[in-house]
Amino acid sequence: MRKKLVIGNWKLHGSLLENQALLNRLKQELHDIEGVDAAVCLPYVYLYQAQAALQDSTIAWGAQNVSQFTEGAYTSCISAQMVAEFGCTYTIVGHSERRALKLESNQVATKRLLNALHAGLTPIFCVGETLDERDGGMAELIVRNQMLNVVYGLDSQAFALAKKLNMVIAYEPVWAIGTGEHASPEQAQRMHAFIRMMIAERDREFSEQIRIVYGGSMAPQNAESLLSMPDIDGGLLGRAALVAEDFIDTCRIASHCWQQQRQLHAQAAAPAVIV
Ligand code: PEP
Repeated sequence: MRKKLVIGNWKLHGSLLENQALLNRLKQELHDIEGVDAAVCLPYVYLYQAQAALQDSTIAWGAQNVSQFTEGAYTSCISAQMVAEFGCTYTIVGHSERRALKLESNQVATKRLLNALHAGLTPIFCVGETLDERDGGMAELIVRNQMLNVVYGLDSQAFALAKKLNMVIAYEPVWAIGTGEHASPEQAQRMHAFIRMMIAERDREFSEQIRIVYGGSMAPQNAESLLSMPDIDGGLLGRAALVAEDFIDTCRIASHCWQQQRQLHAQAAAPAVIV
């Protein structure tokens, strides 16, 4: 059964002092959480601090992006290989804030994803539609287009790496990010099932294994309804990741949902008793 995955995206927040307090709390409170992998994605300059603070913990850490280039005269770029040197497990790729701010195309996002895979990092590949696109009935078409390179564009070697490194997909409706408004559990479940079906078109086994997490104003108040859905395998949290209690509570809710789902699986798998 897929474990839940709860990732904090710290964005452009933090200071050495604040980070240390937050990382220490997460480490203390989440060391024995069942059925949940927890991770934080921090600004590059704090990766060394995260590595020092978390290396003897169950919490993973990662970057928020990696360059589409591997080396060369690319001022301010940070390569996947550099990020990997700091013990990172994950990197976010294709976040909508990058797509909007830097006009990142699907092609560039795919290049970053490939670099992450070749550096041994697990990419968290973000997809999601804007409000206009949803209102225009185009949500699935947009997400399908964003997913195409990942599903069909990777050659068999890269796809095998994605499988081995447990690539993650984050469904993040743009209209729900940072707005306090989240997708309904039914809306999110429908899109997650759609993404899983796309992956099954290429590899059925991987479609059962891959974790598809939801992002967009997830918080303790709405986490249970979202994380109880069968295809929602966790959350990518922005604002709620900056408050220790909110992140910890969301992880606890994820654990509770995982335990309930495990029970349902066990019941479904139990042989029928004939009387
Ligand atoms: C995000 O930026 O990935 C995100 C989901 O942010 P928030 O939780 O604040 O909506």
